[in-house]
Amino acid sequence: MTDTRPVRSRSRPPSVRRPSATVGDGGPPAHLSDFDVATELLIRATDTVLVGHVHPDADALGSALALGLGLERRGVPVAVSFAEPGEIPESLRLLPGGHLVVPPGEVPEHPDLLVSLDVGSAARLGSLDRLLTTARQSLIIDHHPSNTRFGDHHLIDPSAEATVVLVARLLDRLGIPIDLAIAKNLYAGLATDTGHFRHADSDAHRLAARLIDTGVRPAELLRPITDSHPFDWLTMLSHVLGGAVLHDVAADGRGVVSTRIDLATSAGLRSEELDSVIDILRTVQQAAVAIVLKQTSPDIWQVSLRSHPPVDVAVLATELGGGGHVRAAGFTHHGDPDDAVAAILAVLGR
Ligand code: 5GP
Ligand code: MN
Repeated sequence: MTDTRPVRSRSRPPSVRRPSATVGDGGPPAHLSDFDVATELLIRATDTVLVGHVHPDADALGSALALGLGLERRGVPVAVSFAEPGEIPESLRLLPGGHLVVPPGEVPEHPDLLVSLDVGSAARLGSLDRLLTTARQSLIIDHHPSNTRFGDHHLIDPSAEATVVLVARLLDRLGIPIDLAIAKNLYAGLATDTGHFRHADSDAHRLAARLIDTGVRPAELLRPITDSHPFDWLTMLSHVLGGAVLHDVAADGRGVVSTRIDLATSAGLRSEELDSVIDILRTVQQAAVAIVLKQTSPDIWQVSLRSHPPVDVAVLATELGGGGHVRAAGFTHHGDPDDAVAAILAVLGR
């Protein structure tokens, strides 16, 4: 990545920076940075579809809504979408810009520019991967180190804590002011992807300060996203945590903790409740790796992985057909969940 400039502070309003050469169908000249190319594509786009990964989190949806609100202000037609579920997850419904969201079956099929945000591979676009071929051009904006570079143009920076960090820099380059509506989306993605700022460097904290200066109230914004569950959540937790297993010989003796959530246990609960389980397991002192297996249909399990240094679960998940980050990754398993755990332990044991 050639552009590592921090996001500018509010006291120095950004100007639109135009690259010295243009992006044509034949691909950009080599001297343009990835940020130059992305900026130029967004300046020239006549209509856009912005897509996050299936089951979007606050970084995926926040990135798409923040960029979407910015482009809308420039008069560019914008549709935001994700393949599953059919509507915005309940915990993210208060993010501004929901009017831009279009069901996956109703997105324009031939947009001038498809922008994929926080999506590590084409498979994570779900059924909307069809737009990779029907859109005139595609731009992939992401921070997953495992990104498979599945588009025409790529702005991928694994050193960015969240995709919203890249979106904030693009908005500055486009000269689009970050107002409160955009700031709420950026803050939600930044707070959640950094583990509520545990994994945020000083630039990310400066960005957070700038967003708070626009009027974001962190506790109020984050409560429905991460701090709010129905009472039945406690019943599920007691069952699932009671079934946790410590595999204390794996990962060089640093230990692995695992549990599973089957369909009967998750019935009636939202993904927000199920996703909270891994955050509890990852705090187990005896484990360098935490695993939660979530049954999504009788024969399919979505596997969540978290690690402490020096274990890299991005490499582990990629080897098992998924992907993600060094400290948070996942993959999909078909068959017996015990086999998934055995496969993980086998890879860690090498
Ligand atoms: P989570 O455990 O929260 O579902 O996912 C953690 C991280 O792993 C996220 O960054 C997500 O993008 C990645 N991830 C989870 N499941 C998969 C998967 O099936 N395939 C890929 N490529 N990445 C995944
Ligand atoms: Mn992200």
